[in-house]
Amino acid sequence: MAKKISKKVRVDFRKNRQNSARQNDFTRQIHADESVIEDIDREQRVSGKGALTRRRTILGEQGEGDHVVLAVDEAACLRGRVISAIGSTQCTVQVDEGQEGSGTRFECTVRRVVRTVARNARNAVVTGDRVLFLPGKNECGVIERVEPRQGIIARGHQYKQHILVANVSQVAIISSADEPPLKPALIDRFVVSAAKGEVRAIIVINKCDLVDVADLQPMIGHYAQLGYTVVAASVPTGLGIAWLRRLLKHQQTVFTGQSGVGKSSLLNAIQPGLSMKTGDISRVTQKGRHTTRFAQLQELSFGGWVVDTPGIRQLELWDVHPAEMEGYFIEFRPFVPGCKFPDCLHLVEEGCAVREAVKQDLISQIRYESYIRLVIGDD
Ligand code: GDP
Ligand code: ZN
Repeated sequence: MAKKISKKVRVDFRKNRQNSARQNDFTRQIHADESVIEDIDREQRVSGKGALTRRRTILGEQGEGDHVVLAVDEAACLRGRVISAIGSTQCTVQVDEGQEGSGTRFECTVRRVVRTVARNARNAVVTGDRVLFLPGKNECGVIERVEPRQGIIARGHQYKQHILVANVSQVAIISSADEPPLKPALIDRFVVSAAKGEVRAIIVINKCDLVDVADLQPMIGHYAQLGYTVVAASVPTGLGIAWLRRLLKHQQTVFTGQSGVGKSSLLNAIQPGLSMKTGDISRVTQKGRHTTRFAQLQELSFGGWVVDTPGIRQLELWDVHPAEMEGYFIEFRPFVPGCKFPDCLHLVEEGCAVREAVKQDLISQIRYESYIRLVIGDD
């Protein structure tokens, strides 16, 4: 572990108080404890003279990368997990196990400095974050610090990256053996997305009751050989459900997959009532606004969390550059150095060792086709 060095971190603040005071009534209600934030801000202000920005110095620690771990009064704070976040200013936080009030949910605002030290303010606090917050009255609180994240599901690139869920330990890629038919290219796309987010992938082939499972064995064997866990499942017969429960236990899992493959059915088989319907989401946000991208953690009774959100079920999670795609197809790796051109994309180039390996059946034709579709973006 890298040694943490305590150092002062200086940040710029845009002078936007006037604007924020004119937010609509609803927002003001939600931010009922905004005065708390205002007070903190005032206390910490060093100089308020600048026209556009004011500077202040905050004691923090430079953590991994450019993550700033803010120094806070830990004794006054509670630790929790962000169950849902809207626009990184309003979140529901559940108090961690082993603490006073564990399991209680607080409606939290976000201390402004937390947004200021984030590389991208939009991602300051996201669903799945582990946070320290200052509890106030009526189960309201203020998030004081966001802990470093491990495993994220995001879309976009670097600075424009939009983090949908943080601290995801695995992605369950749900597909169906039939109705809709199995689409290996789609599975591979999710596998690449998971790898890019540094998240483990579990491949689930649901609706196995509709086919002869023996027919799936070559495919299951193939992914297993590549190091992925492959679960054959069926909701009506119960196949694979107990195994899925074991795989989900104490993990934070995002469910992804095409519509109709049985994600909701599987979740309800794993734990009755688990799958969330869109109507419930609206109720939680109290807004009835467009909620399709709104991620929410669902607690598992046997430990762990799942995220099943319509908006992140099917999407292209990450933009992967064509040149980095080969790195996510692990079976290509031994052959890549053999290509004639170092920047070979393994499409039509002369002297391509990957294509040669496909010809000789050393790389699966199906996987190679997935690779092509991902590189040329045709899906
Ligand atoms: P989602 O869109 O991925 O959440 O899929 P749903 O859970 O809504 O399921 C879509 C349809 O597939 C529903 O009619 C389910 O009853 C059906 N279904 C789900 N799982 C299975 C399964 O294992 N076997 C069969 N035969 N049907 C299933
Ligand atoms: Zn090549």
